[in-house]
Amino acid sequence: MDCIFCKIISGEIPSEKVYENDTVFAFKDIRPVAPEHILVVPKKHIANIEEISLEDSKVLSDLFMAVKEIASARKLNDKGYRLILNNGKAAGQEVFHLHLHVIGGKDSLGPMISR
Ligand code: 5GP
Ligand code: ZN
Repeated sequence: MDCIFCKIISGEIPSEKVYENDTVFAFKDIRPVAPEHILVVPKKHIANIEEISLEDSKVLSDLFMAVKEIASARKLNDKGYRLILNNGKAAGQEVFHLHLHVIGGKDSLGPMISR
């Protein structure tokens, strides 16, 4: 499958890995918007929310547990951090492999949505 994130998970495309377990892979975003900008992705290829099913329940909880571990290991948890999931074209989703952006390392990350 021609998916950038599947290739990153398999190691075909290099990345700066920050975390990995059986079901989740996390790496630094190539175009960081803050001092800490990490992408947390399920190893299973799921394009976006529209493709998730009940079978993916464990994978989805694993994703959030991984966020918690990464935030704690990188000391983001005391100040706080933002999670972003761009779902679909209108939201700016560029890579159609479900992923959470973990963004932190700054006190102020600006307004949630620009209006
Ligand atoms: P989206 O807009 O789909 O939520 O975000 C995709 C993110 O993937 C972007 O922030 C972009 O910088 C990042 N990205 C795209 N290609 C690569 C890549 O080859 N390596 C890494 N590390 N990040 C990538
Ligand atoms: Zn993929």
